Amino acid sequence: MTPIPIAAYRQQFSIPDDVIYLDGNSLGVLPKATAAAVAKTVEQEWGNGLIRSWNTADWVNAPRRCGDKIARLIGANAGEVIACDSTSVNLFKALLTALALQNDQPQRNVIISDIDNFPTDLYIAQGIRDLLREREIQLHFVKRQDMQSTIEAFSGCTTVVMLTQVDYRTGERYDMQSITALVQSKGALMLWDLAHSTCAFPVELNACNADLAVGCSYKYVNGGPGAPAFVFAAKRHLDTLDAEGTSAPISGWFAHEAPFAFDPLFRVVRGIERFTVGTPPILQFAALEASLDMWLTVDMQALRDASVVLTERFIKEVETQCAGHGLTLATPRDAAIRGSQVSFRHAEGYAIMQTLIARGVIGDFRAPDILRFGFTPLYINEDDVVKAVVHFREVMSSREYERTEFQARGKVT
Ligand SMILES: *Cc1c(COP(=O)(O)O)cnc(C)c1O
Repeated sequence: MTPIPIAAYRQQFSIPDDVIYLDGNSLGVLPKATAAAVAKTVEQEWGNGLIRSWNTADWVNAPRRCGDKIARLIGANAGEVIACDSTSVNLFKALLTALALQNDQPQRNVIISDIDNFPTDLYIAQGIRDLLREREIQLHFVKRQDMQSTIEAFSGCTTVVMLTQVDYRTGERYDMQSITALVQSKGALMLWDLAHSTCAFPVELNACNADLAVGCSYKYVNGGPGAPAFVFAAKRHLDTLDAEGTSAPISGWFAHEAPFAFDPLFRVVRGIERFTVGTPPILQFAALEASLDMWLTVDMQALRDASVVLTERFIKEVETQCAGHGLTLATPRDAAIRGSQVSFRHAEGYAIMQTLIARGVIGDFRAPDILRFGFTPLYINEDDVVKAVVHFREVMSSREYERTEFQARGKVT
């Protein structure tokens, strides 16, 4: 099958006419197929099928079915990924699993992460430390430039290193292969958060020998607001957990070996299903699966090539057209260590972004001073980049952002 050219995917999305959408890294655009898929699930499967649809429409296997599809997008195998819950909840489960896998090594009580990691990741680790007091977990959250020396310094007492591959503010990317190898050479486990990686560029979890991973599917995956997230565990670890009879990280009835036996005693299911908890949100799964079916047709290397063209062009255009207005590039110039976003710093970043949004150029702002623009080649092209930068130049040179209406902050930025 010849791959579909990346530019041809734009017609598969529903994009408002007056919008240049550079925020697909926060909430992906609606694929046209999704509305029909959700309508079918609502009207036929829920409306007519009712409770029978758990079996007849195979609702009950949605987490595993979508997990197997996601696996193909992140270099994993069927049975190693399950779609469920939120990224935050899945991180909780993945961290507890890492600790369980190292249970025989109580001297390993350190969790390492990047202080600039997305806060929820750091909060979940703090919660686990407080929950498992007797394990005396030490958290070491350090700057990126100190990551390697920290991993080396705590060699022998680290249980897991937890990193988000792409920094949500700057878009800088960790090298998955070399960091994973370094961490494992010290006897620790590697947990990757793929929130800004999945469907942003090719990800090869198994080729990099990753231990555990989590990810989000409402960003680059276009699964819809609040879409089920996912969790990955390498088969070797699932086999160990099964062999040792390790319990589920959250022992809800969907993690039971036989949920419909209604046994009062918990017995954990084998395999990746151990990460599920309760009833899956079927309407959200209908939306997610529609976008996954589109993604499975995408040539990921061609997507990456198109992404690099867009980010390079945006950097060049902004730096020439908006020069002299105090914007500084926060994203690496080297495309090889960049995700699929470009960020600029500016003291008035919040108001500038509000002004751009009022003009239909939608990006977002991340405290303290980051203007963030995501590039999603399936529905954004170079023409959009050029048009967006014309607005950016006008906003900067007119200082339109100084108007009071652009200063007030909403709850979500
Ligand atoms: C977006 C994002 C999340 C989101 O977590 P939710 O549980 O979906 O709210 C978590 N971690 C990282 C690194 C993210 O970028």
